[in-house]
Amino acid sequence: MKIDASLIAQLHGEQPLVMHDHKPILFRRTRSINAESFQTIVKDIDTFIFDADGVLWLGDGVIQGSPQFIDYLISLDKQVIVLTNNATKSRAVYAKKLAKLGYNSKLNKNTLVNPAAVVADTLARAGLSGGKKKVYMIGSQGMRDEMDELDIDYFGYGPEPQDNSDGSAFMYDIELKEKPEDVGAVVVGYEKHFNYHKLMKAANYLRNPECMFVATNEDETCPGPKPGVIIPDAGPLVAAVKCAANRDPVTVGKPNTPAFDYIQRKWNIDPKRTIMIGDRTNTDVKFGRDHGLKTMLVLSGCHQTDDIVQNQIAGKHDMVPDFYASCLGALLPNERHY
Ligand SMILES: [Mg+2]
Repeated sequence: MKIDASLIAQLHGEQPLVMHDHKPILFRRTRSINAESFQTIVKDIDTFIFDADGVLWLGDGVIQGSPQFIDYLISLDKQVIVLTNNATKSRAVYAKKLAKLGYNSKLNKNTLVNPAAVVADTLARAGLSGGKKKVYMIGSQGMRDEMDELDIDYFGYGPEPQDNSDGSAFMYDIELKEKPEDVGAVVVGYEKHFNYHKLMKAANYLRNPECMFVATNEDETCPGPKPGVIIPDAGPLVAAVKCAANRDPVTVGKPNTPAFDYIQRKWNIDPKRTIMIGDRTNTDVKFGRDHGLKTMLVLSGCHQTDDIVQNQIAGKHDMVPDFYASCLGALLPNERHY
């Protein structure tokens, strides 16, 4: 869709009715925020929830000004939580990354949430810890670490040991390592060893209606160092299992409710005095809007003002943030140095 520059100009205007292709469109109010205007909203917020990639870091590098902004919030006694949709690493590994990038030590494993931790928590609360039932896992090291922490017995991760199928075009059978009645859940997240065998195993375990189907996140792609290369995320893998099993998973990552419930249980936040700050409109902003939080898009990662305008035109007001800013560093009071 071609975005008219005048639409961007009207993005944060007072006039909610905007003409596009000779048709009136109702724009949801969104405000551009800078260091000065941030001062007027910060006093109404107790808890800041940050996405990580595109907000605190980009790949392996820190986003300039973000550590100082976190320091500033901590100096104001604000509660700071990091909520990533990436389940490939555990919270402990992300905590080390934050420390390495120069973030305040108050950002640590206990202030981080990732879908792997929420999946493990979901399974433990469903009574799957302590080895009562096993979990068939399509997932990475981060998920294994979080499952270990809650004593959940899992199998199936990593490369398939051997392809025993014959030379015919179809596979008509597959050997299941565990009896389906002993498998309490199938979990699906990003796994680079995903293949047809794993798909077939997952779908066959899920034939048992008692077997839970839990997914980390449904992001289509993930950011990478080479802009020209598409990196499929967990979404396409979840979609394959969903399609083969003809069942819908409980997906815990943003924008879904399990991640919010996890945060609510752990920190008892007041949604009206909480802001979600992220770089994606369809995960971060939607998560905040769907759960009654204030929302801010930072333009230091994935989505830009064009994307906000597209959401306005499409009437997707749940993906239009209350505020947007170029990056976190742009919100720091000029006279203060942290
Ligand atoms: Mg992000």
